[in-house]
Amino acid sequence: MSPVIWWMRRDLRLHDNQALHAALATGQPVVPLFIMDPHYGRVFSNAKQRREFMFRSTALLDQDLRQHGGYLVARIGVPKEVIAKLVAELGATAVFAQEESDPYGAERDKRVAERVPLTLVSGGTIRPLGRVQKKSGGPYTVFTPYKKMWLSHPLPRTADLLPLPSNLRTPPDIPSQELTCKVDYAHEAGFPLGETAARARLDTFLDKKLDGYQANRDTMGIDGTSSLSPYLKFGLISPREAAVAALNGIARAKTESAREGAETWLSELIWRDFYHNIQYEFPHVRERNFRADYNGIAWLNAPDEFQAWCDGRTGYPIVDAAMRQLNQTGWMHNRARMIVASFLIKDLLIDWRWGEQYFMDRLLDGDGAANNGGWQWAAGTGTDAAPYFRIFNPVSQSKKFDAQGEYIRRWVPELRPLNNKQIHAPWEIPPIIQKSVGVVLGQDYPRPIVDHKMARERTLAAYKAAREKAK
Ligand code: FAD
Repeated sequence: MSPVIWWMRRDLRLHDNQALHAALATGQPVVPLFIMDPHYGRVFSNAKQRREFMFRSTALLDQDLRQHGGYLVARIGVPKEVIAKLVAELGATAVFAQEESDPYGAERDKRVAERVPLTLVSGGTIRPLGRVQKKSGGPYTVFTPYKKMWLSHPLPRTADLLPLPSNLRTPPDIPSQELTCKVDYAHEAGFPLGETAARARLDTFLDKKLDGYQANRDTMGIDGTSSLSPYLKFGLISPREAAVAALNGIARAKTESAREGAETWLSELIWRDFYHNIQYEFPHVRERNFRADYNGIAWLNAPDEFQAWCDGRTGYPIVDAAMRQLNQTGWMHNRARMIVASFLIKDLLIDWRWGEQYFMDRLLDGDGAANNGGWQWAAGTGTDAAPYFRIFNPVSQSKKFDAQGEYIRRWVPELRPLNNKQIHAPWEIPPIIQKSVGVVLGQDYPRPIVDHKMARERTLAAYKAAREKAK
């Protein structure tokens, strides 16, 4: 019997996989295909750890597939050519894949669909892309009404989750190419690979952290969030399954804190859907400000200040802790992302796109939609963005969200001798005390590269001028 192809992209899982399920529903043998597209070679040129996470997850999926009568076929090349060739080679009658929100993916799939019968299936977001629309028609650009409408659609239930596949019956001996990245995967301890690890992480989060998530999620020194983002990025866990877990958490909550935790976590998952929909409906956000009235901001873009930010040497402990966490682990706490983004844009007056790119190079969860949404939010240029005059004070943020200085001490070891009062703003420590505690500014730790008060005024003026120019 002729086979069909399941072309996996950001759905490297067997549980609750709608594209795989659609392929199986044909009743024909299924060929699981992964293509290394040269376009992503360029995207990943600096993001070697994320690429490694993806390649190794794919290799582990191959092992899982073998327990279900299948195996992975890997090919390297331009998708429209690779797929057309494979369809002809195998006499395949259809190709199934998960829909994607990013502009490159949409264009690529259009080209593929011109050559082979391609069916795109939902699964990268909880609700299909473009499904949640205003009553009057058209996409939402503000989160709160989007969320309200999202919640008004029938909610996903445990019974909707798709089971593990029955026998895939992949025809034998289809040639496959080796995917090599040639770097060690350095973040195995923090982010173990594979669908099994992703599912274990979800279970641990539900058991130990969901109740309390609302209270703990903003405290940077606490491991209070799911850290599922890299797994969601590559689809090692289904976002629908995560949402069902949150909804079940709400339904079963026995305490206020358990209910609040589950509701807030669901809300975060809906933010993810929201940003993927923004990218899907307004692809220009990947290149430009969503709000054109800020196109004229006169960025300073000082390369040495940018480098200090990247390296975690700004002299602001909370910013430096966060950037070092990113550089060492490939992940950063959400509150910390907001703080460093605000600092880069509004204290250093550096174009948000520089920070967006640096994050994409370093984050294991680097996701075009969520990352762009986060950066444009911080810049005040996005859909549902922070108002331009909201400028985070890095010291107040540090005192509020890392009150005990635990996060700073973990990532900036040279500041460990400082007490909780000193650690947020070491430049306020008199030189004689600096000497006695062994943290001398300019020697053991950098002096601040910018004065926050001055920077704040400078940014307000730059944003006002851009708005005036746009009138
Ligand atoms: P949890 O708190 O456990 O949340 C569960 C899931 O919800 C996350 O895994 C994520 O998929 C989703 N989520 C949570 N918060 C957001 C949000 N604000 N926007 C969209 N989705 C969200 N997230 C990415 O996945 N990839 C990125 O490249 C990315 N870049 C960001 C850049 C900036 C400047 C900012 C401010 C935020 C960014 N985020 C990004 C969103 C958020 O910081 C991470 O999703 C979150 O920190 C991941 O940790 P977690 O899995 O423990 O999240």
